[in-house]
Amino acid sequence: MIKADIHTHTTFSTDCDAPMEVMIKEAISRGLDTLCFTEHMDKDYPIDPTRDPSLPIEFLLDTDAYRTGFLEMREKYGDKIRLLWGVEIGLQPNLAEWNQNYVNRHPFDFVIGSEHNPENRDPYYPAFFEGRTEEASYTLYFEETLTNLKLFSDFDSIGHMDYIVRYGPNKNKEYSFAKYSDYIEPILEFIISHGIALEVNAGGYRNGLGEPNPCKDIIIRYKELGGELITIGSDAHTPQSMCFEFDRIENLLLDCGFKYHAIFIGRKPVLYPLG
Ligand SMILES: [Zn+2]
Ligand SMILES: [Zn+2]
Repeated sequence: MIKADIHTHTTFSTDCDAPMEVMIKEAISRGLDTLCFTEHMDKDYPIDPTRDPSLPIEFLLDTDAYRTGFLEMREKYGDKIRLLWGVEIGLQPNLAEWNQNYVNRHPFDFVIGSEHNPENRDPYYPAFFEGRTEEASYTLYFEETLTNLKLFSDFDSIGHMDYIVRYGPNKNKEYSFAKYSDYIEPILEFIISHGIALEVNAGGYRNGLGEPNPCKDIIIRYKELGGELITIGSDAHTPQSMCFEFDRIENLLLDCGFKYHAIFIGRKPVLYPLG
């Protein structure tokens, strides 16, 4: 059983209503020994004109309040579960320097780098795909991911590497690693050579892909190219989705030949056996 969920959100993230304490109690009740919060810090998040104006649009994290809240919770629950302080940073080419300064300023245990908004537009909204083919959109996503990596790579794991597939008009029906391998392989080579882990994110299952993000063939290729560092996260925004499909993810990773997954403490990997 996987006993650590290291990609989770709480009310400190704009898009999450689950208080930190509720998430901690859920993790304890599920028998986890480690829970890492990775709140969104997505500076310059795009404002989509079709978005419900009553919803908040800022994915800026109040990092000081997050630190204070976290330390209170660790004081209260630290003898029952290991709590780790992480962040999920939104990558954009114009933010490379800003993100570097941000990471330097705070004592995170774990930093996830995530491509959310290619060309500063949010693929969560169907308007993203208007005027360009799905294939061009997915290609753009992978190309911009590589551009971002070359500009800023001081993070520990790359979040949900083929995230855009969750929102494409045909999702993953016409998507495969083979089709986009020219764009995906350089990303895998880059993270391997820079010691960045590959995250296996349960959001793909939650969004009906039948696979995690990234898909299994990418995980297999990462291994073939020499990649060893895997992190596992539910990307839970609710207590119900904590550890989502973790048994399935564990079996998938064993099937791909991995024997360990990693958590990060003070930005250093600690390996946990699989199986
Ligand atoms: Zn994300
Ligand atoms: Zn997330």
